[in-house]
Amino acid sequence: MARVYNFSAGPAVLPEEVLRQAASEMLDYRGCGMSVMEMSHRSAAFKGIIEEAEADLRELLGVPENYRVLFLQGGATLQFAAIPMNLMRPRPDGSSGTADYIVSGSWSKKAFKEAKLYGEARCAASSEDGGFSYVPDADSLDLSPDADYVYICQNETIYGTRYPKLPDTGNVPLVSDVSSMFLSEPMDVSRYGLIYGGAQKNIGPAGVTIVVVRDDLVRDDVLPFTPTIMRYKTQADAGSLSNTPPCYGIYICGLVFKWLKERGGLEAARERNEEKARVLYDYLDQSKLFKGTARREDRSLMNVPFVTGSDELDARFVAEAKAAGLESLKGHRSVGGMRASIYNAMPREGIEALVRFMERFEAENR
Ligand code: PMP
Repeated sequence: MARVYNFSAGPAVLPEEVLRQAASEMLDYRGCGMSVMEMSHRSAAFKGIIEEAEADLRELLGVPENYRVLFLQGGATLQFAAIPMNLMRPRPDGSSGTADYIVSGSWSKKAFKEAKLYGEARCAASSEDGGFSYVPDADSLDLSPDADYVYICQNETIYGTRYPKLPDTGNVPLVSDVSSMFLSEPMDVSRYGLIYGGAQKNIGPAGVTIVVVRDDLVRDDVLPFTPTIMRYKTQADAGSLSNTPPCYGIYICGLVFKWLKERGGLEAARERNEEKARVLYDYLDQSKLFKGTARREDRSLMNVPFVTGSDELDARFVAEAKAAGLESLKGHRSVGGMRASIYNAMPREGIEALVRFMERFEAENR
């Protein structure tokens, strides 16, 4: 069996140990005589799986007692709508709720556009003028003190940027899309009102979306047209079991949480990720052929976009890399070039193999 080094932005590489364990439990989950895929979400066995997954996630991330953890469906994209529906508060005079959005890439731009369907979403800062190659300065934002929340996408997967510093939003809850950096480093959850992300990058298979939300934001007085299933209260009251959850995906997420815990938790993950990213950025910074596209201070530890400056050479690089077992290095279809996503489960050896390949390609194509 030959496994490639998979640099896909998501769905993405998962830890081999986790895949092996899932394979060994596929036909008979721990004496149940059936696969997790086949069991009722109301069974004792599945209850054990989801409760343990939540407990491990809480421990890993240090989730305070007054936050709820929800395992949902619909992808991160459904949260672009669920967040305004649940968090925008209609005003007594009948006017709609308001929120401030910081637009630092395609994902926050999409979330901003969606929020405008439901209330008064304002753009508090944008880096679109710079091709989203940087994150707007957290200290010079035009934030309104009466907004219902401030929204950021903390790691923009396509442009490879990550907030070097969180904005100070005072009493206004900070909402963060952490899809492409979830569990890659420690976070102080208490600084946020809500964090969320799709699992398919750093945590598990596509189909699970995790929302961590402060108790006071789980309310009944949501926008009146909010579908029952999209109300955080519905899912919080039901322990994410209001309807059938993505059972198998939650099980795999649980295995990944154990894998992370066994490897020293998020502090150790950060050290590994910083080291891995350094190997790639150090090479990019001295290369005469390849160039990283994100501003140095704002570079992501997880997604590393780069270009040669020639579309033809970029395409050749991606094709030759694939033939050499380095998979999915093509940049997002909206920006082109290349992108290496180097999530938790990408071993350092994968990045070293990529850098060796880039060195060779550079020598041959200079
Ligand atoms: N936010 C970010 C930061 C993403 O990278 C993505 C997907 N790549 C999304 C949101 C959308 O996620 P989904 O496909 O799960 O809806």
